[in-house]
Amino acid sequence: MIGFIGLGIMGSRMAGNLISEGHRLTVYNRTKEKADDLLDQGALWGETPKETAQQSDILFTMLTNPKAVESVALGEDGFLHHLPKGSIWVDCSTVNPTFSRRMAEEARKHDIRFLDAPVAGSLKPAESGELVFLVGGEAEVLDKVRPYLNVMGKAISHQGDHGSGTSMKLVVNLMLAQSMAVFAEAVNFGESLGLEKKNVLETLIGGPTTGAFLAGKKDKLLTNQYEAEFPLEHIQKDLNLVTGEAYHNGSALPIANLTKEIYGLANQYGLGKEDFSAIYEFLRTPQK
Ligand code: NAP
Repeated sequence: MIGFIGLGIMGSRMAGNLISEGHRLTVYNRTKEKADDLLDQGALWGETPKETAQQSDILFTMLTNPKAVESVALGEDGFLHHLPKGSIWVDCSTVNPTFSRRMAEEARKHDIRFLDAPVAGSLKPAESGELVFLVGGEAEVLDKVRPYLNVMGKAISHQGDHGSGTSMKLVVNLMLAQSMAVFAEAVNFGESLGLEKKNVLETLIGGPTTGAFLAGKKDKLLTNQYEAEFPLEHIQKDLNLVTGEAYHNGSALPIANLTKEIYGLANQYGLGKEDFSAIYEFLRTPQK
């Protein structure tokens, strides 16, 4: 039996794909209503993380941040003490590698095998089963969960030991966060020069300086509607994880630190629950 904890934007869709492929799932989410659709599709409900774990030999988590993962794994009614010995915990949440290595060690104490397996790809790839898994941990353990990852994703990239999956994920999101902010600033600059927004967007998108993912943000910027695919507060969280790890390693990230604080200001400004492309809205506002 598979357990799945964390049914937000990403987890609900990942779990949905496993059910569609005929896998039997026990699911848990802090806010139960978010599980309703999955329960209608035949998933079982675990009243607590503990109860979910007791019925699982492979458990996936897809939670906001290290604090959420730690409380669900190790807090009151947490799952780690209750997974059967020899079972596998796959943490798909975006956390930092120091934390992943600590969770691997906690899991080992309970005879649980651990993988950090964060994903590249947002709401749409999660829905269509086209995520890319960046995995840290033992190859033999990965082989056991590969069939399930293949249902939820289109590629699996084994990075190395515990923590290397989350290391690569932070590298990817360092680029993602900064690319989005730079793009928003460039569009805003173009408009300030009197160029039409649609023209600036279309000229940049597909050009050599623009990341491919930004094509998917075009309509949000054109309509000024930012329904979250990847909430801005999460990219701010990721940049905090990036800069925290960099400090820990003695590595300076001046541009990332600046970008982190710009997202922080946008969050203070009330844009945290919007898609992270709303950074454009924040950068644009002072020019009004
Ligand atoms: P989300 O919609 O905000 O979902 C977060 C999940 O974590 C929800 O199930 C939430 O429960 C749960 N949670 C948060 N704090 C908790 C706590 N203290 N105790 C128990 N449960 C808690 O976020 P998401 O977009 O699915 O992202 C999940 C993870 O994937 C994050 O680490 C994110 O950075 C990463 N990620 C996201 C994307 C994306 O494009 N969205 C892409 C790649 C990776 P409630 O429902 O009760 O709030």
